[in-house]
Amino acid sequence: MKNINSFLNWSESQLTQAGVLSPRLDSEVLLAHALKLSRSQLLIHSKKTLNEAEKKCAEINVRRRRKREPVSLITGYQEFWSLDFLVDENVLIPRPETELLIETGLNCISPASKNILDLGTGSGVLALVMAKEASACKVTALEIDPKALKIAKQNAKNHGMRDRIKFLCKDLRKEDWGGPYSMILSNPPYISSTDIDKLMPEVKNYEPRKALDGGLTGIEFYKSIIPIAINQLEEKGFLILEIGHNQVNEVTALLRQFSAYQKIEVIKDYSGYNRVVKAQKESRYG
Ligand code: GLN
Repeated sequence: MKNINSFLNWSESQLTQAGVLSPRLDSEVLLAHALKLSRSQLLIHSKKTLNEAEKKCAEINVRRRRKREPVSLITGYQEFWSLDFLVDENVLIPRPETELLIETGLNCISPASKNILDLGTGSGVLALVMAKEASACKVTALEIDPKALKIAKQNAKNHGMRDRIKFLCKDLRKEDWGGPYSMILSNPPYISSTDIDKLMPEVKNYEPRKALDGGLTGIEFYKSIIPIAINQLEEKGFLILEIGHNQVNEVTALLRQFSAYQKIEVIKDYSGYNRVVKAQKESRYG
């Protein structure tokens, strides 16, 4: 017979053996999910005995995590901007540092901002949070993979934003974005193809390669996005890109090739890494 506390101890030791980085936290999140409790309820009821069905379900979760499947794929959800987003194997799991892209975007919203494009929307996080926070703007979400787009649409529906977002199933490398836009945001795939196998098992074995793979150089998507965005932005419109922390020189050099991009700025994330690059399209009237 196992109670919550002894199950958590067992689960923690299983996950520690498997090399999981946060074995106790993951054990708590997974058991809370299996028992449909919050983490604090779990700790309050730590002496409660698990029945057979609960134990079986909780053990399956631990077994999956032991194989280094990400917690969010086991629970089916990831929190971003304090909201819960549905995720599965077809979408990149939203990362906390991507919230900086949202903060940067919100700081650039003005009464003149009409419409926003999220390029490569994946689970839809950027489009959806912008639709919620910039409620006067129309939002478009573009994504090449129909399976990812299905998740993004479901997330928009779950958050009551389905009517606020236009979804386009398109390849962002083709100039067909439906602009001009006041703002274009993107967190494109930016890991170099040769580095993907060096990533943690959670990422390389479970997240969609096409959401990660930025080509041999890692910056192939920026090479496509930066020239196209000039024609897809209104005058004074903003291009805001998430980048890998070692890509700042290459990406800003790509922007500087076009005199249409002005006020190029780099913003650091909370770990101190260069994470977001922002540029504004010139205005013919200065
Ligand atoms: N826009 C999504 C996110 O930031 C997906 C990004 C991607 O698949 N590269 O999480």
